[in-house]
Amino acid sequence: MQTVWVLGDQLNRRLGPLREATPADTRVLLVESTAKLASARWHVQRAHLVLTAMRRFATELREEGFEVDHRRSASLPAGLAEHRARYRPARVVAMEPASYDGLLMLRRHGVEVTRSDQFLCHYGDFADWVASRRSVRMEDFYRHQRRRLGYLMDGDEPAGGRWNFDADNREPPPRDGRAWPLPLRTPLDGVDRAVLADLAALGENATWGAPPDGTWATSRAEALRRLEHAVTAVLPAFGPHEDAMLSTNWHLAHTLLSPYLNLGLLLPAEVCDAAEAAHRAGRVPIASAEGFIRQVIGWREYVWGRYWQWVPDHRSANELGAHRPLPPVFADPGVATEKRSEMHTEMHTEMRCLATVLRDVHDHGWTHHIQRLMVLGNLGLLAGVDPAELTRWMWTSFVDGAEWVMLPNVIGMATYADGGRMTTKPYAAGGAYIDRMSDYCGGCRFDRRRRTGDNACPFTTLYWDFLARHADRLRRNPRVAQQVRAADRLSDLPAVRERAAEVLAELDQGRL
Ligand code: SF4
Repeated sequence: MQTVWVLGDQLNRRLGPLREATPADTRVLLVESTAKLASARWHVQRAHLVLTAMRRFATELREEGFEVDHRRSASLPAGLAEHRARYRPARVVAMEPASYDGLLMLRRHGVEVTRSDQFLCHYGDFADWVASRRSVRMEDFYRHQRRRLGYLMDGDEPAGGRWNFDADNREPPPRDGRAWPLPLRTPLDGVDRAVLADLAALGENATWGAPPDGTWATSRAEALRRLEHAVTAVLPAFGPHEDAMLSTNWHLAHTLLSPYLNLGLLLPAEVCDAAEAAHRAGRVPIASAEGFIRQVIGWREYVWGRYWQWVPDHRSANELGAHRPLPPVFADPGVATEKRSEMHTEMHTEMRCLATVLRDVHDHGWTHHIQRLMVLGNLGLLAGVDPAELTRWMWTSFVDGAEWVMLPNVIGMATYADGGRMTTKPYAAGGAYIDRMSDYCGGCRFDRRRRTGDNACPFTTLYWDFLARHADRLRRNPRVAQQVRAADRLSDLPAVRERAAEVLAELDQGRL
């Protein structure tokens, strides 16, 4: 009898060695690691999602006839050792994990590791693709994936006559007060409550954030229901406003499927198949279908390939010498209060953009890519926050977080800490960008046009200060040289830099 060890982000019967396994030849091991839970202050919705999904998956496997050893242990290796001592399996086999440390751990403890099929492009194939080309931009990889996998292709040509409809998908938020498709919810049951009780027993400060409200599905059946809902009710409106940010709505027309993909509850091919079928049936416009499929087979798989290409060195990349501790408002963004039977959060910052995004993270463990990149990541970049600290915060605070997601996205993309390996320019922006893409600035006590004075927008002040601070390096980059020259020409640059020092001090003290 063999043991298949299923890790907490591989929860699918069709993945890895579990696909061919039968109850007659296989016992399944699942380990909840106390050390992992204690290793960070996780968002409670993230910890709840992973643990509950593991427990429900164990139940599904038992119902299928498998013997499942689902144990809580001091660590993953301890759980393996206890399992071996108890069952003496002929072999223990696992699919490649999604983390570098996890892979080393499995090898160190004599677990047979099979090739991951959780992504459409294995990272080994990604490395071959990188080695075979001069241009390895995400857009090149995306087209390679489209051709190879056949999504949205009419023969050799892209459906709709263009590879990329991004230019159509950058509309600012609509001001018409329209209704956005509501996320599905599943009432919490005894399994949810048992997990929450276990998390509560870890201590008051072991987790943070608002408790789960049933938004995040914790089983494959419920994740499939979310997929159906996403394709029929959400995706038709996704594209045009995918970069827009609203203070009054946390999800807009985003599908909210990323946590299920990252835990294995959904597989990338099935979500892309569903999106393409809806488009071919005339229910989803090409710009929305293309934008969604690009996120899944393009960006997501590109990030996965880059993670394995650069880990572990990427973890300590800090080319801009950013050593500021994570501002206190990230760790303690606000106080949750009950208001009109909904959970609301009074925030500890007067920056309305930051308050809104941190409130959404607190309440849901999720924000979309532009809020992550252009508010949270942008602030980290401009303020010189330690990129490893910001990476870790993102990884532990989002329901779809993982090291493989956050290292390329935060170290490479958001904070430019790898000096341009991942992206050709730093994604630095002042208040003007945030104002264009959101409704945040209107009600803010700061003025997004001002860079000096008490009511100057901190993003605008820090943007010019960032360009001045890194002028020697950035002047050599043709994609930002013009902005550096504009900073050089500012007559009030000394006053901007003085104000920036005040802003950074207030940020450090949690007074901004
Ligand atoms: Fe954010 Fe500045 Fe706009 Fe206020 S004015 S919401 S701080 S970008």
